[in-house]
Amino acid sequence: MKLIFAGIAALGFGWGGFAQAQNTLNLYSARHYPTDEALYSDFTKATGIAIRRVDADDAGILTRLKTEGAASPADVILLVDAARLWRAETDGLFLPVHSAALEAVIPAQLRAQPNAEGGIAWFGMSTRARVVVYDKQKLDRQAVDSYEKLADPKLKGMLCIRSGSHPYNLSLFGALHEHMGAAATELWLKGLVANMARSPKGGDSDQIKSVASGECAVAVTNTYYLARMLRSSNSAERSMAESVGVVFPNQNSWGTHVNVAGAAVARYSKNTPAAIKFLEYLASPAAQNHFANGNNEWPVVSGLKMDNPALKAMSGGDFKREVIPISAVGKNQIKIQQMLDRVGFK
Ligand code: FE
Repeated sequence: MKLIFAGIAALGFGWGGFAQAQNTLNLYSARHYPTDEALYSDFTKATGIAIRRVDADDAGILTRLKTEGAASPADVILLVDAARLWRAETDGLFLPVHSAALEAVIPAQLRAQPNAEGGIAWFGMSTRARVVVYDKQKLDRQAVDSYEKLADPKLKGMLCIRSGSHPYNLSLFGALHEHMGAAATELWLKGLVANMARSPKGGDSDQIKSVASGECAVAVTNTYYLARMLRSSNSAERSMAESVGVVFPNQNSWGTHVNVAGAAVARYSKNTPAAIKFLEYLASPAAQNHFANGNNEWPVVSGLKMDNPALKAMSGGDFKREVIPISAVGKNQIKIQQMLDRVGFK
């Protein structure tokens, strides 16, 4: 009798552990935006699946996944740049998945190329544009309305930009490589170096502040950094953001470069169905709005109405985006890094 009880108790314990594993999703996230919190709790409310989150930057997550290997508890990975998504895919850190729901709503150019079995390693979930900010006292809008013009000798000593090797820049330069080819891109990068007001340093917000303070006349930033400053509760930040001009480059040619923040199922996920369910949830209209708008980004799912005053003010409603497979941008990053080394772009 005693033995039977012990057997039942062990069985019960086992089932409890199983149920817990099925009902928890381990998320490795590089999204550094507190506004995502509600998104995760809504998912738990709707599905009963709890989310356990590990936060790190893109590079930190990639390192951690490699170190953990097959023992990794990660189910879902969230990264914030196309170059990094491509790197993780190439390093085999993602599990390519099939989801008719995701393929139906996320444009093909904003996700990984399908593998031989048609599986897709990652999906863009929101987009951010890489734009130009400038000092309206010193420059006309026309002087900086394309990426090419940033290399114009007329801008000598005026340009501020973060490190060339930062993923946001590797992706931008990789996109330009798609549009202009290798030789023109390297020449362009050389022109940027010649135009720098100072050595590359700081993040995108610092470049905006450097334009506002007069240290440089023109700079490059992701849109959400500017939107964040425009909506800041700090009035000094707000007035800095309001003082600079903003241009969505290349509206008369191939369009402004847009990068993606994306999601993937981890290679060694022990809970693939729930991981896919979470990705599909992120692509649902309500989640898209929250996911993108919470960080002042644009949804990837088209046809969604979004009312973000800062983004609207910045872009004047809508803007022309480049149309290239974002996966190609990641692929170019090794070539770009070699160009940066050759032209002395730190
Ligand atoms: Fe960022």
